Amino acid sequence: MTLLSVVVPCYNEEEAIRPFLKEMQSIESRMKDKVAFDYLFINDGSADGTLSVLRDMAKTYSNVHYISFSRNFGKEAGLLAGLEEAKGDLITVMDADLQDPPDLLPEMYDKIQEGYDVVGTRRANRKGEPPIRSLFSKLFYWFANKITDTEMVDGARDFRLMTRQVVDSILTLGEVNRFSKGIFSWVGFKTTYISFENRERIAGKTSWNFFDLLKYSIDGFVNFSEVPLNIATWTGTVSFVFSLFAIIFIVIRKLIWDDPVSGWASTVSIILFMGGIQLFCIGILGKYIAKIFLETKKRPVYIIKEKG
Ligand code: UDP
Ligand code: MG
Repeated sequence: MTLLSVVVPCYNEEEAIRPFLKEMQSIESRMKDKVAFDYLFINDGSADGTLSVLRDMAKTYSNVHYISFSRNFGKEAGLLAGLEEAKGDLITVMDADLQDPPDLLPEMYDKIQEGYDVVGTRRANRKGEPPIRSLFSKLFYWFANKITDTEMVDGARDFRLMTRQVVDSILTLGEVNRFSKGIFSWVGFKTTYISFENRERIAGKTSWNFFDLLKYSIDGFVNFSEVPLNIATWTGTVSFVFSLFAIIFIVIRKLIWDDPVSGWASTVSIILFMGGIQLFCIGILGKYIAKIFLETKKRPVYIIKEKG
């Protein structure tokens, strides 16, 4: 019998967890002669009754376990804790809000039997999402795939089924700044994707606003690419070469025509322009230094307060 660990990060999901478990259990009974399910919920410092619901469920069902953090550490931390604690031969990561349809699991399991190491899922469309958010997501994936060596699949969700070997490989990456979309893809292995229609969450509301997503994208770029640093270097080089020519031109003009001083407006514009580029490049440098700073502190990614 294969043991399947279901890792579920939860942040303020008190209304969603029970329906989630119920739906999962119906899948569980459909697969019961092949797979034994083991649930691992991670309470990521929820402010609502999530923890007491989890305590309750862990008492009722012997295959339901939970980890509770000392505060909100973010979904990435929840995912990491779940993967570290999961004991299964197969591991899946799911949202608590049923946006990741459990009825895909049998099909995903079959794919693993066919020899795939990872079966990911992707949304076939972005129905029900604000258009502006879709536009920026599309831009992110386009840009990320241009500037990073790690392929990021548009619409891919964190919902995936992985073998023990894949999860062990993911856990060997010791970075504190964890960008899962990149890490999942970086480790490689034979991967396939299943598409499904986008679903709205069943209860509660999304914990991501536009600026969280923007910050998350910038994290993705900085964690998985050195291209922003190269952009800084190249804009610097190009403007340096350009200014050399400009100096030569001005000196020659002075020698031949002895031009009086004029054009202060253009001079000021150029100074402002150069100042802008410099600040921009320093900003990029700063982003990387901040990441190094966080990594060298070697802080734990999460702190567990309670287990059950
Ligand atoms: N989540 C979490 N910690 C956080 C934010 C979210 O563990 O700080 C969980 C959340 O409970 C859910 C999953 O991560 O199970 C995805 O979050 P959400 O549904 O808000 O994101 P969306 O599906 O809108 O991208
Ligand atoms: Mg969701």
